[in-house]
Amino acid sequence: MNKIINQLLQIQDLTLILRENDILHKRRDIEARATESLKRNISEMKEYLSGDILSDLQLLSSKYDIFVVPMINDTCTGCFMKMPVGIANNVRQTSQCISCPSCRRFLYEGYQSRRPSGNFQQYKGIARFSSVDLMLPDLSADNHADALREIALLTAEKGFVENGEEFAEALLEREALASTAVGSKLAFPHARGISACGMTLALGISGKGIDFGEGETVHLVFASAVPTQTSVFYIDMVSKIARYFGKAENTSKMIQCKTAEDMWRIFVKIGK
Ligand SMILES: [Zn+2]
Repeated sequence: MNKIINQLLQIQDLTLILRENDILHKRRDIEARATESLKRNISEMKEYLSGDILSDLQLLSSKYDIFVVPMINDTCTGCFMKMPVGIANNVRQTSQCISCPSCRRFLYEGYQSRRPSGNFQQYKGIARFSSVDLMLPDLSADNHADALREIALLTAEKGFVENGEEFAEALLEREALASTAVGSKLAFPHARGISACGMTLALGISGKGIDFGEGETVHLVFASAVPTQTSVFYIDMVSKIARYFGKAENTSKMIQCKTAEDMWRIFVKIGK
């Protein structure tokens, strides 16, 4: 990938994390600390950009939440316009920073993985992005890194992401930027920009609880693969989950589930 596009993608990710933090964190002290370090990271990254790119970035980010998008099947996934052959080829060559002629967003070449066959398309609400195959009633890990790996490998095994190791690594990298534990026994680890078949959400339960740092013990780990173009939608999805499990009785019902099928029965009710 083009170095500048990579830099812009990281700025976009950090900006989205700032927003997630603001929406999800219940503990204001943790939120404020994370916000400060994220803002510092963003301005350090901007120092590497040339004046032209920086002014494009300023303009685009005032207009769009997602200003760097993958081109998939020669189509801009920001505005869904099919790219002329010349532009599509330039994006593939990656030597320069190419913008979509229609919406002006920066483009990079992306790939769409095929969804595993299954019948989850019939579901509404949050269940659209998951499957009974992605419910883990009994995480064996006793620390957060192992828990993320356990869930990532299962997600790959079931065919929802292409590479489980890559997914685990990306989840850990994101976690290192700011903890995704949000209070009320919940954590929302997630990774953007990995090869996945659309937005994918897996849920692991830890009966004994897992230490996610900052004094947060997490029992419900919602781990997602988030394609870049669905980032804003992801924030909306986790807000719905956080609202549902803001009720302690919903959380304890879920924690008590012994099978994937029991979990799924609760899961399909969320965000409907
Ligand atoms: Zn476009």
